[in-house]
Amino acid sequence: MTTDHETLERIKTAALAVGVRIDVPTLASLGGADALTVHEYATTGGITLELDDDVLVNAPFDEPFCADSPLELSTVDGQLALVLGERHAPVRRVVPLPGYLDAVDVDGRPVADTAMSHADRIRVSPITGCAYDCRFCDVARVRYQPRPIEQILAGIDVALADAVLPTRHLLISGGSPAKGAAHQQAFEDVCLAVIDHVHRHDPEFEVDIMLSARPDGPEFVDRMVDAGVAGFSINLELFGEDARSVLPLKHRFTREHVGPMIERAVERLGRTARVRSLLIPGLEPIADTLAGVEWLAERGCSPVLSPFRPARGTAMASRPPVAIDDLRLILDRARTTLARHDVPLGPRCVACQHNTLAFPWDLVRYVSRPSFVSIR
Ligand code: SF4
Repeated sequence: MTTDHETLERIKTAALAVGVRIDVPTLASLGGADALTVHEYATTGGITLELDDDVLVNAPFDEPFCADSPLELSTVDGQLALVLGERHAPVRRVVPLPGYLDAVDVDGRPVADTAMSHADRIRVSPITGCAYDCRFCDVARVRYQPRPIEQILAGIDVALADAVLPTRHLLISGGSPAKGAAHQQAFEDVCLAVIDHVHRHDPEFEVDIMLSARPDGPEFVDRMVDAGVAGFSINLELFGEDARSVLPLKHRFTREHVGPMIERAVERLGRTARVRSLLIPGLEPIADTLAGVEWLAERGCSPVLSPFRPARGTAMASRPPVAIDDLRLILDRARTTLARHDVPLGPRCVACQHNTLAFPWDLVRYVSRPSFVSIR
Protein backbone atom coordinates (compact mmCIF):
# COMPACT_ATOMS: atom_id res chain seq x y z
CA MET A 1 0.00 0.00 0.00
CA THR A 2 1.34 3.44 -0.84
CA THR A 3 1.09 6.52 1.32
CA ASP A 4 -1.95 8.72 0.63
CA HIS A 5 -1.30 12.11 -0.94
CA GLU A 6 -2.60 14.11 2.02
CA THR A 7 -0.07 12.43 4.30
CA LEU A 8 2.76 12.96 1.80
CA GLU A 9 1.84 16.64 1.47
CA ARG A 10 1.67 17.21 5.22
CA ILE A 11 4.95 15.46 5.86
CA LYS A 12 6.87 17.19 3.07
CA THR A 13 5.45 20.59 4.03
CA ALA A 14 6.66 20.12 7.61
CA ALA A 15 10.07 18.93 6.40
CA LEU A 16 10.57 21.96 4.17
CA ALA A 17 9.44 24.37 6.85
CA VAL A 18 11.26 23.18 9.97
CA GLY A 19 13.26 20.11 8.97
CA VAL A 20 13.36 16.72 10.64
CA ARG A 21 14.74 15.33 13.89
CA ILE A 22 17.03 12.30 13.57
CA ASP A 23 18.08 10.50 16.73
CA VAL A 24 21.70 9.48 17.23
CA PRO A 25 21.30 5.70 16.53
CA THR A 26 19.31 6.37 13.33
CA LEU A 27 21.85 8.93 12.16
CA ALA A 28 24.69 6.48 12.87
CA SER A 29 22.89 3.71 10.96
CA LEU A 30 22.78 6.03 7.91
CA GLY A 31 26.53 6.69 8.04
CA GLY A 32 26.46 9.97 9.96
CA ALA A 33 25.73 13.54 8.87
CA ASP A 34 28.71 13.77 6.50
CA ALA A 35 27.33 10.89 4.43
CA LEU A 36 23.97 12.59 4.03
CA THR A 37 24.56 16.22 3.13
CA VAL A 38 27.02 18.82 1.91
CA HIS A 39 26.32 22.35 3.11
CA GLU A 40 27.16 24.08 -0.17
CA TYR A 41 23.80 25.84 -0.66
CA ALA A 42 21.22 26.55 2.03
CA THR A 43 18.38 25.05 0.03
CA THR A 44 20.13 21.73 -0.58
CA GLY A 45 21.75 21.31 2.83
CA GLY A 46 19.52 18.50 4.07
CA ILE A 47 19.02 14.76 3.75
CA THR A 48 17.24 13.84 0.50
CA LEU A 49 14.64 11.12 0.91
CA GLU A 50 12.52 9.34 -1.66
CA LEU A 51 8.97 8.58 -0.48
CA ASP A 52 6.07 6.90 -2.27
CA ASP A 53 4.76 8.09 -5.64
CA ASP A 54 8.04 9.77 -6.64
CA VAL A 55 7.83 12.36 -3.86
CA LEU A 56 11.32 13.56 -2.95
CA VAL A 57 12.09 15.77 -0.01
CA ASN A 58 15.28 17.53 1.04
CA ALA A 59 14.91 17.93 4.80
CA PRO A 60 17.34 19.91 6.95
CA PHE A 61 18.29 17.88 10.03
CA ASP A 62 21.43 19.41 11.55
CA GLU A 63 20.34 23.04 11.85
CA PRO A 64 19.37 24.54 15.24
CA PHE A 65 15.74 25.04 14.19
CA CYS A 66 15.29 21.30 13.47
CA ALA A 67 15.39 20.46 17.19
CA ASP A 68 11.79 21.64 17.62
CA SER A 69 10.42 19.99 14.48
CA PRO A 70 7.30 17.81 14.93
CA LEU A 71 8.70 15.55 12.19
CA GLU A 72 10.99 12.64 13.02
CA LEU A 73 12.99 10.17 10.93
CA SER A 74 12.47 6.90 12.70
CA THR A 75 11.75 3.19 12.24
CA VAL A 76 8.15 2.00 11.83
CA ASP A 77 7.46 -1.74 11.46
CA GLY A 78 11.16 -2.29 10.75
CA GLN A 79 11.30 0.30 7.99
CA LEU A 80 12.76 3.81 7.91
CA ALA A 81 9.91 6.34 7.85
CA LEU A 82 9.08 10.00 8.32
CA VAL A 83 6.71 10.26 11.26
CA LEU A 84 4.42 13.24 11.90
CA GLY A 85 2.04 12.64 14.80
CA GLU A 86 -0.30 9.82 13.78
CA ARG A 87 0.85 9.89 10.17
CA HIS A 88 3.92 8.31 8.66
CA ALA A 89 5.46 7.81 5.22
CA PRO A 90 7.93 4.98 4.54
CA VAL A 91 11.28 6.05 3.11
CA ARG A 92 11.90 4.16 -0.13
CA ARG A 93 15.48 5.34 -0.46
CA VAL A 94 17.97 7.79 1.01
CA VAL A 95 19.20 9.52 -2.14
CA PRO A 96 23.01 9.35 -2.11
CA LEU A 97 25.47 12.17 -2.50
CA PRO A 98 27.47 12.04 -5.73
CA GLY A 99 30.52 9.81 -5.85
CA TYR A 100 32.99 12.55 -6.80
CA LEU A 101 32.99 14.73 -3.66
CA ASP A 102 36.73 14.18 -3.15
CA ALA A 103 37.68 14.39 -6.84
CA VAL A 104 39.96 17.12 -8.19
CA ASP A 105 40.50 18.17 -11.80
CA VAL A 106 43.84 18.09 -13.63
CA ASP A 107 44.87 21.35 -11.98
CA GLY A 108 44.01 20.08 -8.50
CA ARG A 109 40.79 22.09 -8.14
CA PRO A 110 37.90 20.34 -6.32
CA VAL A 111 35.30 19.28 -8.86
CA ALA A 112 32.48 19.78 -6.38
CA ASP A 113 33.23 23.52 -6.26
CA THR A 114 32.10 23.75 -9.87
CA ALA A 115 29.66 20.90 -10.45
CA MET A 116 27.42 19.22 -7.92
CA SER A 117 24.74 16.60 -8.54
CA HIS A 118 21.46 16.62 -6.65
CA ALA A 119 19.00 13.78 -7.30
CA ASP A 120 18.97 13.64 -11.14
CA ARG A 121 20.47 17.06 -11.94
CA ILE A 122 23.98 18.50 -12.20
CA ARG A 123 24.22 22.06 -10.92
CA VAL A 124 27.05 24.09 -12.44
CA SER A 125 28.35 27.31 -10.89
CA PRO A 126 30.20 29.46 -13.46
CA ILE A 127 31.00 32.09 -10.81
CA THR A 128 32.36 31.90 -7.28
CA GLY A 129 30.32 34.33 -5.16
CA CYS A 130 27.87 36.76 -6.72
CA ALA A 131 27.63 40.36 -7.88
CA TYR A 132 24.53 40.84 -5.70
CA ASP A 133 24.01 40.87 -1.96
CA CYS A 134 20.77 39.04 -1.11
CA ARG A 135 20.65 38.92 2.68
CA PHE A 136 19.39 35.34 2.97
CA CYS A 137 21.97 33.86 0.57
CA ASP A 138 25.20 32.12 1.53
CA VAL A 139 26.71 32.67 -1.92
CA ALA A 140 26.65 36.46 -1.49
CA ARG A 141 29.39 36.48 1.15
CA VAL A 142 31.92 34.61 -1.01
CA ARG A 143 34.45 36.67 -2.99
CA TYR A 144 33.30 37.27 -6.59
CA GLN A 145 35.42 35.39 -9.12
CA PRO A 146 34.33 33.97 -12.50
CA ARG A 147 35.65 30.45 -13.18
CA PRO A 148 37.57 29.52 -16.35
CA ILE A 149 35.47 27.68 -18.94
CA GLU A 150 37.92 24.73 -19.01
CA GLN A 151 37.43 24.21 -15.26
CA ILE A 152 33.65 24.22 -15.68
CA LEU A 153 33.67 21.73 -18.56
CA ALA A 154 36.10 19.45 -16.72
CA GLY A 155 33.79 19.44 -13.71
CA ILE A 156 30.81 18.60 -15.90
CA ASP A 157 32.66 15.62 -17.39
CA VAL A 158 33.30 14.18 -13.94
CA ALA A 159 29.65 14.65 -12.93
CA LEU A 160 28.36 13.12 -16.17
CA ALA A 161 30.47 10.01 -15.58
CA ASP A 162 29.33 9.51 -11.98
CA ALA A 163 27.80 6.07 -11.46
CA VAL A 164 26.79 6.68 -7.84
CA LEU A 165 24.23 9.35 -8.73
CA PRO A 166 23.28 9.16 -12.42
CA THR A 167 21.87 12.38 -13.83
CA ARG A 168 19.69 13.32 -16.77
CA HIS A 169 19.81 17.11 -16.92
CA LEU A 170 21.93 20.11 -15.96
CA LEU A 171 21.32 23.54 -14.49
CA ILE A 172 23.67 26.46 -15.01
CA SER A 173 23.18 28.37 -11.77
CA GLY A 174 24.29 31.43 -9.75
CA GLY A 175 25.97 33.58 -8.63
CA SER A 176 25.12 36.39 -10.93
CA PRO A 177 27.66 38.10 -13.19
CA ALA A 178 28.56 41.72 -12.56
CA LYS A 179 26.79 44.43 -14.56
CA GLY A 180 29.63 45.31 -16.93
CA ALA A 181 29.42 44.17 -20.55
CA ALA A 182 32.53 42.00 -20.27
CA HIS A 183 31.10 40.07 -17.30
CA GLN A 184 27.73 39.62 -18.99
CA GLN A 185 29.41 38.41 -22.17
CA ALA A 186 31.66 36.01 -20.24
CA PHE A 187 28.61 34.48 -18.58
CA GLU A 188 26.91 34.11 -21.96
CA ASP A 189 30.04 32.48 -23.42
CA VAL A 190 30.03 29.96 -20.57
CA CYS A 191 26.35 29.15 -21.17
CA LEU A 192 26.96 28.54 -24.89
CA ALA A 193 30.05 26.42 -24.20
CA VAL A 194 28.21 24.30 -21.63
CA ILE A 195 25.19 23.73 -23.88
CA ASP A 196 27.45 22.70 -26.76
CA HIS A 197 29.63 20.48 -24.56
CA VAL A 198 26.71 18.67 -22.94
CA HIS A 199 24.87 18.14 -26.23
CA ARG A 200 28.00 16.64 -27.79
CA HIS A 201 27.87 14.13 -24.95
CA ASP A 202 24.11 13.52 -25.32
CA PRO A 203 21.76 15.64 -27.48
CA GLU A 204 18.84 14.68 -25.21
CA PHE A 205 20.53 15.86 -22.00
CA GLU A 206 18.61 19.02 -21.16
CA VAL A 207 20.34 22.21 -20.02
CA ASP A 208 18.47 24.91 -18.10
CA ILE A 209 19.80 28.30 -16.99
CA MET A 210 18.98 29.98 -13.67
CA LEU A 211 19.93 33.62 -13.80
CA SER A 212 19.07 37.13 -12.74
CA ALA A 213 17.17 39.20 -15.28
CA ARG A 214 19.35 41.22 -17.68
CA PRO A 215 18.73 44.44 -19.63
CA ASP A 216 19.10 42.41 -22.84
CA GLY A 217 16.86 39.67 -21.42
CA PRO A 218 14.62 38.97 -24.47
CA GLU A 219 17.60 38.88 -26.85
CA PHE A 220 19.57 36.70 -24.42
CA VAL A 221 16.61 34.30 -24.27
CA ASP A 222 16.53 34.11 -28.06
CA ARG A 223 20.24 33.37 -28.30
CA MET A 224 20.06 30.64 -25.67
CA VAL A 225 16.93 28.97 -27.08
CA ASP A 226 18.50 29.01 -30.54
CA ALA A 227 21.54 27.29 -29.01
CA GLY A 228 19.35 24.54 -27.53
CA VAL A 229 18.58 25.54 -23.95
CA ALA A 230 15.57 23.70 -22.51
CA GLY A 231 14.38 26.13 -19.83
CA PHE A 232 15.01 29.16 -17.65
CA SER A 233 14.64 30.02 -14.00
CA ILE A 234 14.40 33.82 -13.75
CA ASN A 235 13.92 34.28 -10.06
CA LEU A 236 11.95 37.00 -8.29
CA GLU A 237 12.56 35.55 -4.78
CA LEU A 238 10.45 38.32 -3.21
CA PHE A 239 7.62 40.14 -4.98
CA GLY A 240 6.56 42.87 -2.54
CA GLU A 241 8.22 45.95 -1.06
CA ASP A 242 10.47 43.87 1.23
CA ALA A 243 12.50 42.97 -1.86
CA ARG A 244 14.12 46.41 -1.62
CA SER A 245 15.73 45.60 1.72
CA VAL A 246 16.23 41.81 1.41
CA LEU A 247 17.77 41.77 -2.07
CA PRO A 248 18.89 45.39 -2.43
CA LEU A 249 21.27 45.22 -5.40
CA LYS A 250 19.37 42.53 -7.27
CA HIS A 251 16.10 44.43 -6.90
CA ARG A 252 17.66 47.72 -8.00
CA PHE A 253 19.43 46.39 -11.07
CA THR A 254 17.17 43.59 -12.32
CA ARG A 255 13.54 44.06 -11.26
CA GLU A 256 12.44 46.11 -14.25
CA HIS A 257 13.92 43.50 -16.62
CA VAL A 258 12.16 40.44 -15.15
CA GLY A 259 8.82 40.87 -16.93
CA PRO A 260 10.12 41.34 -20.50
CA MET A 261 12.58 38.46 -20.10
CA ILE A 262 9.98 36.06 -18.72
CA GLU A 263 7.46 37.02 -21.38
CA ARG A 264 9.95 36.35 -24.17
CA ALA A 265 10.98 33.03 -22.62
CA VAL A 266 7.34 31.91 -22.40
CA GLU A 267 6.80 32.92 -26.04
CA ARG A 268 9.71 30.69 -27.04
CA LEU A 269 9.27 27.74 -24.65
CA GLY A 270 5.59 27.68 -23.72
CA ARG A 271 3.62 27.48 -20.48
CA THR A 272 4.63 23.99 -19.27
CA ALA A 273 7.11 25.01 -16.56
CA ARG A 274 10.08 25.35 -18.89
CA VAL A 275 10.03 28.97 -17.70
CA ARG A 276 9.94 29.30 -13.94
CA SER A 277 10.71 31.76 -11.16
CA LEU A 278 11.55 31.11 -7.52
CA LEU A 279 9.57 32.75 -4.76
CA ILE A 280 10.68 32.33 -1.14
CA PRO A 281 7.76 31.86 1.28
CA GLY A 282 8.75 33.06 4.72
CA LEU A 283 10.64 36.21 3.70
CA GLU A 284 7.66 38.48 3.07
CA PRO A 285 3.97 38.60 4.00
CA ILE A 286 1.90 35.72 2.59
CA ALA A 287 -0.16 38.17 0.53
CA ASP A 288 3.00 39.37 -1.25
CA THR A 289 4.12 35.84 -2.09
CA LEU A 290 0.64 35.10 -3.46
CA ALA A 291 0.66 38.33 -5.46
CA GLY A 292 3.94 37.12 -6.97
CA VAL A 293 2.32 33.80 -7.88
CA GLU A 294 -0.49 35.68 -9.62
CA TRP A 295 1.92 38.00 -11.48
CA LEU A 296 4.00 35.10 -12.75
CA ALA A 297 0.98 32.97 -13.69
CA GLU A 298 -0.53 35.84 -15.68
CA ARG A 299 2.60 35.68 -17.83
CA GLY A 300 2.52 31.89 -18.23
CA CYS A 301 5.54 31.44 -15.94
CA SER A 302 5.56 28.67 -13.33
CA PRO A 303 6.29 29.83 -9.78
CA VAL A 304 8.59 27.61 -7.74
CA LEU A 305 7.90 27.84 -4.01
CA SER A 306 11.29 27.51 -2.30
CA PRO A 307 10.67 27.90 1.45
CA PHE A 308 13.07 30.11 3.39
CA ARG A 309 15.81 28.30 5.29
CA PRO A 310 17.93 30.40 7.63
CA ALA A 311 21.47 29.82 6.34
CA ARG A 312 24.57 29.81 8.52
CA GLY A 313 26.70 32.92 8.30
CA THR A 314 24.12 35.06 6.49
CA ALA A 315 22.46 38.27 7.66
CA MET A 316 19.24 36.29 8.14
CA ALA A 317 20.71 33.30 9.99
CA SER A 318 18.71 34.01 13.12
CA ARG A 319 15.38 34.68 11.42
CA PRO A 320 12.87 31.92 12.23
CA PRO A 321 11.95 29.47 9.46
CA VAL A 322 8.54 29.71 7.80
CA ALA A 323 5.54 28.33 9.73
CA ILE A 324 4.13 24.99 8.53
CA ASP A 325 0.57 26.37 8.39
CA ASP A 326 1.72 29.35 6.32
CA LEU A 327 3.32 27.05 3.78
CA ARG A 328 0.18 24.94 3.54
CA LEU A 329 -1.95 28.04 2.98
CA ILE A 330 0.42 29.31 0.29
CA LEU A 331 0.39 25.96 -1.50
CA ASP A 332 -3.43 25.77 -1.51
CA ARG A 333 -3.90 29.36 -2.71
CA ALA A 334 -1.14 29.06 -5.31
CA ARG A 335 -2.76 25.96 -6.77
CA THR A 336 -6.09 27.81 -7.11
CA THR A 337 -4.40 30.74 -8.86
CA LEU A 338 -2.40 28.52 -11.19
CA ALA A 339 -5.46 26.47 -12.17
CA ARG A 340 -7.20 29.72 -13.14
CA HIS A 341 -4.31 30.60 -15.45
CA ASP A 342 -3.73 27.02 -16.65
CA VAL A 343 -0.07 27.07 -15.60
CA PRO A 344 1.64 24.31 -13.57
CA LEU A 345 3.48 24.79 -10.30
CA GLY A 346 7.20 24.39 -10.97
CA PRO A 347 9.68 22.89 -11.22
CA ARG A 348 9.07 20.66 -14.22
CA CYS A 349 11.18 17.74 -12.94
CA VAL A 350 9.83 15.56 -10.10
CA ALA A 351 13.31 14.90 -8.72
CA CYS A 352 14.05 18.63 -8.63
CA GLN A 353 10.93 19.12 -6.51
CA HIS A 354 12.97 17.78 -3.59
CA ASN A 355 13.61 21.19 -2.02
CA THR A 356 10.48 22.96 -3.28
CA LEU A 357 6.86 22.93 -2.23
CA ALA A 358 5.47 20.93 -5.14
CA PHE A 359 4.36 17.37 -5.82
CA PRO A 360 4.38 15.10 -8.87
CA TRP A 361 0.61 15.46 -9.19
CA ASP A 362 1.02 19.22 -9.70
CA LEU A 363 2.49 18.39 -13.13
CA VAL A 364 -0.28 16.11 -14.37
CA ARG A 365 -1.78 17.45 -17.63
CA TYR A 366 1.26 19.61 -18.32
CA VAL A 367 4.36 17.42 -18.41
CA SER A 368 4.96 13.84 -19.41
CA ARG A 369 7.36 13.21 -16.59
CA PRO A 370 9.94 10.49 -16.30
CA SER A 371 9.79 8.90 -12.88
CA PHE A 372 12.80 9.37 -10.61
CA VAL A 373 12.78 5.61 -10.04
CA SER A 374 13.08 4.94 -13.78
CA ILE A 375 16.33 6.82 -14.24
CA ARG A 376 18.50 4.70 -12.03
S1 SF4 B 1 21.39 36.75 -6.95
FE1 SF4 B 1 21.17 34.59 -6.34
S2 SF4 B 1 23.25 33.85 -5.88
FE2 SF4 B 1 23.32 36.11 -5.95
S3 SF4 B 1 23.11 36.75 -3.80
FE3 SF4 B 1 21.04 36.77 -4.74
S4 SF4 B 1 20.17 34.72 -4.31
FE4 SF4 B 1 22.42 34.62 -3.95
